[in-house]
Amino acid sequence: MIPKLSKGMNVPKPRKCSFCGNEFPAGTGMMYVKNDGSILWFCSSKCRKSTLVLRRDPRKLKWTTYFGKEERGKT
Ligand SMILES: [Zn+2]
Repeated sequence: MIPKLSKGMNVPKPRKCSFCGNEFPAGTGMMYVKNDGSILWFCSSKCRKSTLVLRRDPRKLKWTTYFGKEERGKT
């Protein structure tokens, strides 16, 4: 599914945390741009640290929405 691009940017869309999968309002959280140009969004410093510093697997952490889910094709 490819989301349609809307011309109006006045409607803030919730972001989905790249680590835990929780949605959070636009304007909060943190954006991180990797060297390869891909963009990661984090709802909290906990998620940012878990990804970038600790390199945790969200499927092994109870507080993420990915906990217990099977791995489906790596990107
Ligand atoms: Zn998060």
